[in-house]
Amino acid sequence: AGSLYVVATPIGNLEDLSPRAAQVLGQVALVAAEDTRHSGRLMRHLGLSPAMISVHDHNEASRVETLRQRLVQGDDVALISDAGTPLISDPGYVVVRELRAAGFRVVPIPGPCALVTALCAAGLPTDHFSFHGFLPAKGAGRRARIEAWRNSPVTQVCYESPHRIRDTLADLAAVLGERRVVLGRELTKTFETFLDGSAAELLTLMESDPDQARGEFVVMVAGASGPAPDQRAVDDEALLRALLAEG
Ligand code: SAM
Repeated sequence: AGSLYVVATPIGNLEDLSPRAAQVLGQVALVAAEDTRHSGRLMRHLGLSPAMISVHDHNEASRVETLRQRLVQGDDVALISDAGTPLISDPGYVVVRELRAAGFRVVPIPGPCALVTALCAAGLPTDHFSFHGFLPAKGAGRRARIEAWRNSPVTQVCYESPHRIRDTLADLAAVLGERRVVLGRELTKTFETFLDGSAAELLTLMESDPDQARGEFVVMVAGASGPAPDQRAVDDEALLRALLAEG
């Protein structure tokens, strides 16, 4: 039987496509793409013209059977999305779940992902973080989601579009006040920018320079701070001394 390759593609800079990804895309019998027209441009850039079918949110379940038949015939299939890693706020979960459950080999070909790209350069803690994809589009739902971050100590990460970035910053300011926010904008592209400040400060910045509100965003929010680590150590010693004195 054939294998399903889950292939990450660039999030802006075409040079980020790995040689292994290019090799796989050149060898498979079929490329299942979120938008075949969009991905056709990437294929032309690579000098490839593979057979393609669309797999998007609205047809993913029905495409599983088509892909299954191709794999049974011995054809290898690559799954890609418009940008970055499939399944990460992108289609592919149903395809991977069903084809793996049916016993086919599913092979990840790792590469760009906006979430990891943003986190690795933001300067916020990365040992624990929570990723939320896109927040609800409506204000009440969005604020309820942000409310749940109030007492969590871990870094919170979500994706945001230029249409809603200001509304989201306004909600972050309203719910979390002075909490530190880092925005990764247009990552790997010409106008890549990291903005760092409170949500209110970032909003003010966007008002004075509207270009800062354009493009694609990864929003990262610092966790609620617990006691500083060295303070905790001092407290532990004090507690130990007190216990020893008692004994
Ligand atoms: N699958 C993709 C990945 O691996 O990151 C994410 C796809 S999701 C539909 C698109 C969102 O990802 C954008 O709205 C933005 O929040 C984020 N994103 C994608 N590319 C980006 C970039 N170059 N810079 C900043 N954010 C980006």
